[in-house]
Amino acid sequence: MKKAATTRYPSPIVSSVLSDEEKIEAISAHFEGIMTTLGLDLTDASLVQTPRRVAEMYVKEVFSGLDSKNFPDVGLFEEDHVSEAGHHSLVVTKCGFTSFCEHHFVPMMGVAFVAYIPRGKLLGLSKIHRIVRYFAKRPQLQERLTSQIADSLSHILASSDVAVSIQAQHLCVIARGVHDEESQTTTSYFGGAFTHDAAKREEFFQAIQRLQK
Ligand SMILES: [Zn+2]
Repeated sequence: MKKAATTRYPSPIVSSVLSDEEKIEAISAHFEGIMTTLGLDLTDASLVQTPRRVAEMYVKEVFSGLDSKNFPDVGLFEEDHVSEAGHHSLVVTKCGFTSFCEHHFVPMMGVAFVAYIPRGKLLGLSKIHRIVRYFAKRPQLQERLTSQIADSLSHILASSDVAVSIQAQHLCVIARGVHDEESQTTTSYFGGAFTHDAAKREEFFQAIQRLQK
C-alpha cells in the first residue's frame, strides 16, 4: 500500500532514475566539493572518508523516505481477533522521530501523537512508528510531516477519523538564527470525527497529556 497524495503541503520530490550506489557516488563528489571550498584538507585521515560517509547517511538513513520502495508494509487486523478487552474507542500512539528541516538541512527532533478510531480494523502499533519514520526520513516541513502521516493513515484505514499532533525542536532555530534553545513548535491535524466531535478531540488531548508524563 502506497502513501496517499496530499494537496495541503505538496511534496517537492522528483523521482530519480539513479540507483542508491549511483546517488552515493554523486553526493560524495558534491560533498567533497563543499568541504574543499570551505578550506578543509581532504587528505587528513579524519576527513578522508567524510564525503562518502555523509552520502551513505543521506541515501540509506536520514533521507531514505524519499524512495517510495522504503514505504513500510502495513497490514490491518480484524479488531475481533486481537481484542479480548472489548471495543477500542480510540487508539493513540506516541512516536519519537528525527527529521531534517528542508530549509537548512539540519535535524528537527520531536514526538508525534497519532490517533485513530478503529472501525473494526486495527493497525499494529509498530506500523504507526514505521509510517512516522518513513515520512520523517526526508528533508521536511513539520506541517507537511503532520499532514502526510495523517493522509497516509486515513488512506490505509479507509477512514478520515485520524488525528496527529507533533511537537518538535528545530536545530535551525536552536543552533543558528535566533539561537533559542527553548523553542518548540506544535502542529496538529484533525480529520473526520475529530473535527466535529469535541469529546473525541478532548479524549485525544487527555491521552497526549498522559503520554507526556
Ligand atoms: Zn530550518
